[in-house]
Amino acid sequence: MVYNFSAGPALLPAPVYARAAEAIHELRMDGHAHNAPGTGMSILEISHRSKAFGAILQHAQVLCHEVLGIPRTHQVLFLQGGASLQFTMVPMNLAHPDKFAAYIDTGSWATKAINESQIIGDTRVIASASDTGYDRVPQFPTPNLYAGASYLHLTTNETIQGVEYPDVPAVAGDVPVVIDFSSHAGSRPMSLERATLGYAGAQKNLGPSGVTLVYVHKDVLARAQDEHIPMILRYQTHAKEPSVYNTPNTFGVLVLQLVLEWMRDEGGLAIIAERNTRKATKLYELLDGSTLYRPHAQVGSRSQMNVTWRLAASSTQQQEQATKRFLEQATLAGFDGLQGHRTVGGCRASIYNAFPERGVTALCEFMREFERRA
Ligand SMILES: *Cc1c(COP(=O)(O)O)cnc(C)c1O
Repeated sequence: MVYNFSAGPALLPAPVYARAAEAIHELRMDGHAHNAPGTGMSILEISHRSKAFGAILQHAQVLCHEVLGIPRTHQVLFLQGGASLQFTMVPMNLAHPDKFAAYIDTGSWATKAINESQIIGDTRVIASASDTGYDRVPQFPTPNLYAGASYLHLTTNETIQGVEYPDVPAVAGDVPVVIDFSSHAGSRPMSLERATLGYAGAQKNLGPSGVTLVYVHKDVLARAQDEHIPMILRYQTHAKEPSVYNTPNTFGVLVLQLVLEWMRDEGGLAIIAERNTRKATKLYELLDGSTLYRPHAQVGSRSQMNVTWRLAASSTQQQEQATKRFLEQATLAGFDGLQGHRTVGGCRASIYNAFPERGVTALCEFMREFERRA
């Protein structure tokens, strides 16, 4: 028995594994609906332009609207290249040559997005939490700092540092907002309509790696027209032939659709969010009540998906040793993937939607016991 706390790819709901395995043997019609007629073919061999795959694509798009709450004013796309390719596609498609792009620096992923934007054009970091080691989301910038920008980009959940905006912030004026919500998409109800464009690598909460969910306001698609952008990097290209301009990750889209169905059948985002809050609260309460563990994120900025902490020690070297010992014993006890990201160290428990509450309870018991023995 292993509890997998990986930050992504991460575990998916058990019923999704069963249905995906079935579709590998034989895909059914109607988005692999129960009791629908079989196609006589595997999801792995079926054409991305077939009727059966068309149904999956369409069903997945509808579920993105209905389950995730993506507004109908926006088009849903399933792209490749990860969230990382969006770091480039966003400035390529949305940066205006006479304007600057405004970024909020919340942590490691925001920094990567900023670096890519700088390659494309004028980029301004208008708020940053780097001076406090990204232990909180920076105070939201005043409108004068982003007025006149091509767009305002923010990472709504920083997977590595474990800080989160609980919702897409309301932004004054008409500057388009762009969000990277990779690691908390589908974890709670959010005001997604506040963003002109949002993107999320599926492998955190929505499916397997190799699919990126992008939603983009249709007005932007009508406007964006730049012959200097390579065809495959234009949102318009992917919107015109919805997600089948080139061969998409057909299996990945099916699994994403199955995950969204699971979310719907569990009762939707409100129910899922309640569970996520319970799981995260349990872990943060343990961290706050301990003298050995030090939570990284400040109250008010704490991620419900990625919980980060360090072990208290009098020197860096001692801390490294204590962390190593903690992680070794955790692995032996069946808790996998608790090491912090290689760039920041420490510990991290990623507890996405599919992660069971009992796994959090078991981890808390293990951590209490470890502290008692320390
Ligand atoms: C994982 C992650 C990314 C990178 O995703 P890839 O699919 O590996 O490109 C970007 N942003 C955030 C917030 C992430 O969690």
